[in-house]
Amino acid sequence: MTKALYVHVPFCAHICYYCDFCHSIYQKDRAHRWLEAFKREFKERVDDEVSTIYIGGGTPTALDDDLLEELLKTLACVHDPDKEYTIEINPETLNAKKVELLKRYGINRASIGMISSNDKELASLGRRHSFSDVTRTVELLKRYGIDNYSLDILYSFPGETFENYKKTIAEALALRPKHLSLYSLTIEEGTLFYKRGVEHFDEDEEADYYEYAKKAFEENGLLQYEVSNFALKGYESKHNLVYWHYEDFIGLSMGASGKIGAMRYDNTRDLIEYEKGHYIKERLDLKKEDMMYEYLMMGLRLNDGISLSDFEKRFDTSVFEAYKKTLPSLLESGSVKVIDGHLIASDLEILNTILVDLLDQDSE
Ligand code: SF4
Repeated sequence: MTKALYVHVPFCAHICYYCDFCHSIYQKDRAHRWLEAFKREFKERVDDEVSTIYIGGGTPTALDDDLLEELLKTLACVHDPDKEYTIEINPETLNAKKVELLKRYGINRASIGMISSNDKELASLGRRHSFSDVTRTVELLKRYGIDNYSLDILYSFPGETFENYKKTIAEALALRPKHLSLYSLTIEEGTLFYKRGVEHFDEDEEADYYEYAKKAFEENGLLQYEVSNFALKGYESKHNLVYWHYEDFIGLSMGASGKIGAMRYDNTRDLIEYEKGHYIKERLDLKKEDMMYEYLMMGLRLNDGISLSDFEKRFDTSVFEAYKKTLPSLLESGSVKVIDGHLIASDLEILNTILVDLLDQDSE
């Protein structure tokens, strides 16, 4: 089976106050060393066609033009123009030369970190772009024929007002994206917000924000298909569906993770180790119980839930048998339901509670 390919670009032009993803500020000499090592890793570990490619980060577009071109050139041998090929974009780092490269090397989908349409809010989050950078990015992409773009929006952060949020949602929709991702702020250890003691948004208020956006998106044809993701029909992220369907994917580069069959791995984050060819830092052999739970954890995030027949085919047992201690009460309470051969979470907002209940299967 062909696998999806994820490539992590481990640098950002700056570090946002809420982010625990990226720990390395972009410096061209370090990025150059990283890229040389990446080319070796790619050659050693990818020898087959891939189903989708996703270049994420970090900030892939923070790379200087020559390094970005070298990266795209390296990946060109596994790229198939009919398949989804996505890159993440930070609006302040994009220019016409970079978009021309993206187009030339076959990128056909972009995920843009819009976050908010309010410049003061963006600055308060440590973002370096303004909303005009977002509109400029969209125009540039469209000019080069990349019209499949997604916008990332963040909500429930300190100082955000509902008035500004409504404006952000309206401005995002006005940019006519094919896909939208909506994330609530979580305060992660190690971030500047954590160090400053920033408190989490009120949960009820957060739920109201979510419902507001969901309704507005759906009125504009962008239907929810996963907890945080909305798309016009046919524009769901094929790459991310690989994760949610618990299929295999190869993660390359520093800080990436991957899953091949029952083996999950995390790559090193250390450039020196990476240059030595010690790509994988940790391997985990998953037991069948772990895989069944992870399959549910990922699949129940989807509006379509999990396929009962696929579960049975993979694990040689039915989900009802595997979760016979916990599933009946969840079905009885209506937290999950079976529709057209799928097990579905009735309300994605209580997904965590459902998953905790399912986890009790193991502890009984
Ligand atoms: S640009 Fe993205 S990855 Fe980089 S620090 Fe900001 S949120 Fe994190």
